[in-house]
Amino acid sequence: MMDENQFRGHEQVVYLHDRESGLKAFIAVHDTSLGPGAGGCRMWNYDNELDALNDVLRLSRGMSYKNAVAGLALGGGKAVIIGNSRTDKSEALFRAFGRMIEGLGGKYISAEDVGMTVEDMEIIASETSYVAGLTKGAHASGDPSPFTATGVFLGIRAAVKHRLGRDSIEGLTIAVQGVGHVGYHLCKQLYGAGAKLLVSDINQDALNRVVSEFGAEIVDLDNILFAEADVLSPCALGAIVNDDTIDHIKAKIIAGAANNQLARDDHGQALMDRNILYAPDYVINAGGIINIAAETRGAYDVDWVNAKVDHIYDSLKVIFERSVSENRSTSRIADELAHEIIEKARVADRR
Ligand code: NAD
Repeated sequence: MMDENQFRGHEQVVYLHDRESGLKAFIAVHDTSLGPGAGGCRMWNYDNELDALNDVLRLSRGMSYKNAVAGLALGGGKAVIIGNSRTDKSEALFRAFGRMIEGLGGKYISAEDVGMTVEDMEIIASETSYVAGLTKGAHASGDPSPFTATGVFLGIRAAVKHRLGRDSIEGLTIAVQGVGHVGYHLCKQLYGAGAKLLVSDINQDALNRVVSEFGAEIVDLDNILFAEADVLSPCALGAIVNDDTIDHIKAKIIAGAANNQLARDDHGQALMDRNILYAPDYVINAGGIINIAAETRGAYDVDWVNAKVDHIYDSLKVIFERSVSENRSTSRIADELAHEIIEKARVADRR
């Protein structure tokens, strides 16, 4: 029944059912060698429970890798609530979910993800202290997007240094797909560093803002991925590198905030074969989780957050260099690096 590939060393998977509120959810804790399993809660109208289970297994493993490479004292976890995020939300449902998180005693720390809002998370937080990424309260970290954007900006600089041999991005053309929360802040930094911006978005107001503030040039939705640019920075959708797009990408570097940019794992190698340098998504976009992680340490400390975000440059440098010396794709190397970090913590735990 189960796609066994999704089960890769998960420590705990819990199915939650609350008859009164109708809550049906999974929480998966992939690995806690580095710390409690942390990762967002997604609400999605899955076709069936097996799809939800596969998703939570895959996503929780991804969070272990992301938190490990970001240098956080957090393991990987994820939750999925099965339901329609427009019609199935209720206070009772979120309260029941919060009580169940509390019941795990801190093994899983939740945060907002697709289909959830900060307001939903606040209801959950009224039943459990194991929620981060809130906008209110003593340790609240606020909007993570500027930190994510800074990490992506640094990641672009690391990629430019490696692939183009330049310290500066002045005069380079950078195509940004999606100028929402992260994309806007990224454009601001790129413009400040002298880059020429090509942008696309389905939201005209968002486009107008970057055109007027940063002199960006609009490219239509169908062409942004194939723009004549030095860097392509996907900041909207996942799976933009796929069988249909890959042969038409002209940029020498792909470095952006979007999650799950590769439609399949083997697209990482396919990019390498085409001499396109790919900054693995979960490494370059870790600024957001780093900011959220600050809440789990006690009083929010922006200096700690900035130091961790700055480190994204060095992590990518290591990944790019290892990719060359070991002749394997940057996405594979990132996964291997994550494994190594987790394994080291596991061995230390056993001692
Ligand atoms: P957002 O919703 O604020 O921005 C996304 C933008 O993409 C919107 O302006 C939207 O109109 C646009 N868009 C949607 N479909 C598009 C299309 N087909 N073509 C072009 N533009 C399109 O989201 P965000 O917070 O800026 O996040 C952007 C991406 O980065 C997402 O994939 C998100 O999962 C990922 N991410 C965000 C953070 C964070 O801190 N916000 C952290 C890690 C990863």
